[in-house]
Amino acid sequence: MRMHILVRMKHVVFLFTLIAGSSMIPLSSYGLPNPPTPANPIIRVALIRHFGHPNELLLRIPANSELYTSSSPTPISVHEESVVHIYLQNNQLHVSGLQDMEATNCDSAVFTPSSPQDTIRISVATYPGADYQGDIRISPWVHDGVNGILIVNELPMETYLRGVLPVEMGADAPMEALKAQAITARTYTLTCLKSHDYPYDVTDTTQYQAYGGADVDNPRSDMAVESTLGMVLFHDGKLVPADYYADCGGITAPGNGPQDYPPSIVDAPLGSTTDYCTNGKYHKWYLSLHLSDIQRSLPVSIQTNVGNLKEITALDHDISGRILNLLLIGDKGEDIVKAAQFRAMLGFDRLRSTLFTISAQPDGRILFDGKGWGHGRGLCQDGAMGMASPPYNMNYRQILLHYFPDSEIMYYAVSY
Ligand SMILES: [Zn+2]
Repeated sequence: MRMHILVRMKHVVFLFTLIAGSSMIPLSSYGLPNPPTPANPIIRVALIRHFGHPNELLLRIPANSELYTSSSPTPISVHEESVVHIYLQNNQLHVSGLQDMEATNCDSAVFTPSSPQDTIRISVATYPGADYQGDIRISPWVHDGVNGILIVNELPMETYLRGVLPVEMGADAPMEALKAQAITARTYTLTCLKSHDYPYDVTDTTQYQAYGGADVDNPRSDMAVESTLGMVLFHDGKLVPADYYADCGGITAPGNGPQDYPPSIVDAPLGSTTDYCTNGKYHKWYLSLHLSDIQRSLPVSIQTNVGNLKEITALDHDISGRILNLLLIGDKGEDIVKAAQFRAMLGFDRLRSTLFTISAQPDGRILFDGKGWGHGRGLCQDGAMGMASPPYNMNYRQILLHYFPDSEIMYYAVSY
């Protein structure tokens, strides 16, 4: 048995190899004096998808919660369900609404329900409310010209994943695809821990992984998380860069990690021309835009360099055929933009990938003839759902080994 050791916070974490292709081995069969239990680290999720960085919010706190504030040496017990009002005042939080506490100013406030099943409901002026399990940490947020409140949901990994799968893949996806998604998302999340200096690990947006809190829980996606409890993907002695996205368009992009892992792969059975993701909604797409519309989407600096946009040309491609750089030609000059940045300028849900060809139309429009949706690195969600469906009926191990060749499914566990 191969064993890998990671040191993470207070725990020494062991990853135990599962034998590829076999069913999961009961932990007791490892023959260890103390069988490992699944590691379930706390994930800090910045809730900005619905709430942004508001100046004011309401929290509905369940009975028997505790409140820790920076201005109080001891926690405050919240005996009854309460609605707490928090707003910014002189770069501090003003907290009011609790029966057992005077209104107070503080630099941070953490609300902790007494039971893991309890939820805290958060609402702001622009969003009616959503429920979250785990702790809610509130603090002032001044960053990149934004002055508001940062809301962070702190909860165990396995609970967090239950709020990711239904939003990222849909709870009605085939079960084996959901399991593959759960292992990929768990691995991805671990690679995000302590990866930057912000007071959170991930946000709840697709910049990391979409997360919907307790409102989106579904028995099917919960089952996929539970049945893959603690499983992560390992390659070459490390957690794999477990990226994923909606649809690869028939071929995945090369990774941008060490040795470009995972490699670019054709997303179809050997010798077949039918892609696993062929039924994806955006497996193939067209976008027709007038040159003047494209020009208006460009940053001012590029508009200044280029003038009136006349032509767009692909400069180079990666080995999967995705465009790396585009040449923009106008009546004043030229500029080069990365295709990934060009997607951001036009909108990720308009120019859905960088796997496209460009053709100029007689009416001054540009036709983008494209495939797939997303960056294309790692697991293709539409492909995973195709592989798990007839006629392929593959299991999650086969799906993961397809997108992450030569990887191993490991067990992420805490030692005693
Ligand atoms: Zn695909």
